[in-house]
Amino acid sequence: MPPDLLPGLLARASERLQEAFAELPPRSDPAWSSLADMASVLDATAQRLGDNYPYFHPLYAGQMLKPPHPIARAAYTLAMAINPNNHARDGGRASSEMEVEAVAEIAGMFDWADGHLGHLTSSGTLANLEALWVAGQSHPGKRIVGSSQAHYTHQRISSVLQLPYSPLATDTCGRMDVNALETELRKGDVGTVVVTLGTTALGAVDPLHDILELRQNHHFRIHVDAAYGGYFKLISNALDEPARRAYAAISQADSIVVDPHKHGLQPYGCGCILFRDPAVGRLYKHDSPYTYFTSKELHLGEISLECSRAGASAVALWATQRLLPLKPDGAFAAGLSAGRRAALALKRHLQQDTAARFDLLPSGTPELDIVVWKLRAPDLKTSSNLAQRIFAACAARNLHLALVQLPESWFAHAHNPASRELVTCLRSVLMKPEHEFWLERIWTLFVEASEEVLPR
Ligand SMILES: *Cc1c(COP(=O)(O)O)cnc(C)c1O
Repeated sequence: MPPDLLPGLLARASERLQEAFAELPPRSDPAWSSLADMASVLDATAQRLGDNYPYFHPLYAGQMLKPPHPIARAAYTLAMAINPNNHARDGGRASSEMEVEAVAEIAGMFDWADGHLGHLTSSGTLANLEALWVAGQSHPGKRIVGSSQAHYTHQRISSVLQLPYSPLATDTCGRMDVNALETELRKGDVGTVVVTLGTTALGAVDPLHDILELRQNHHFRIHVDAAYGGYFKLISNALDEPARRAYAAISQADSIVVDPHKHGLQPYGCGCILFRDPAVGRLYKHDSPYTYFTSKELHLGEISLECSRAGASAVALWATQRLLPLKPDGAFAAGLSAGRRAALALKRHLQQDTAARFDLLPSGTPELDIVVWKLRAPDLKTSSNLAQRIFAACAARNLHLALVQLPESWFAHAHNPASRELVTCLRSVLMKPEHEFWLERIWTLFVEASEEVLPR
């Protein structure tokens, strides 16, 4: 484990909090068992939790998992002394205000500081649900389209909302094919296009700037799903074309989703939805016989589909952004750049492998910090099989990668460039700043694992 700052940070802050509630009597509830009982249950809990992958460690380079910052953990735990509910100011007075401030800072990152409507959600899925719910009401009966690499949640959400949804082709880098989109738009029944900035599999960035141009001839809404890639707006000037241009256009979207619990250093339970037009708030309008009494100011439950929601998430986010402001030249942005450099370094290693054992996606990838590669082999089944075995051999060395299935025809050296068959590939999400420093170690372990598996 890394040195744990949490207890020290918390002890000081808790004293301050206790002053605020000093006059309350101590709790005398029989369900508050003895300290000894609780300690022994906690021991058992810790033992169970030991059965996990080392998500916090730089050699965990598999799925989208980034440890929350110590300030986020401390602020979240501190807020648990109160357990605020951000449904209404009645249940979360300070934390509702902190949410409004933190969300305005995220909106500012997309140049929407003056004028937006937004709030936190318990996940990217819920945030996307709200975006498509609003889209369905503003374009009733119309279709929603997204690329075949858009997150699978969009198809499911559309089915929950009973809105027709269709997937569109991508190019071999996993970006939405604009010609395919234009063909669909000509049919006249598309109401909303889901544009992904940073797909989940590849970190591919759909060409938002080109998609916006289609609005000259067609009338449609644009929802940007930047659950994974949203924070890369801060370093978008350092990205390659066309991703740089896509990010430059993001403020022209109608709605944006970003997940602070992915790249934003937050504990799970923190997504965010933003709308450019604050007037969509009218669609949420409802009355509650129970809830909104203590303040005439907006209660967050009046502009969100979820009711009860962890105020502690807002507190953690607020504290994190105060320590690490969302600025292009700040320490938080520097962490994103380090992960991207790690991804580029891994790509170079794979490319320069003297035995030419690995195949990469076309140049121009990776666009963010996710690297995908396949094994060169006489046939597709062998290639998939080798990927699985190297994945396991890496895990045995405590290097944790991920797997993903992609059309084999996307790769150079495809067996059949016209086929749509899928091949299992190795995938590494290098989202921790420390990945840059650890990349050589990651590469050494990966080569060792590959040599154990591959025929000589
Ligand atoms: C992770 C992800 C989602 C889903 O978000 P959750 O927070 O896991 O619910 C949606 N879209 C994209 C692009 C994602 O990467």
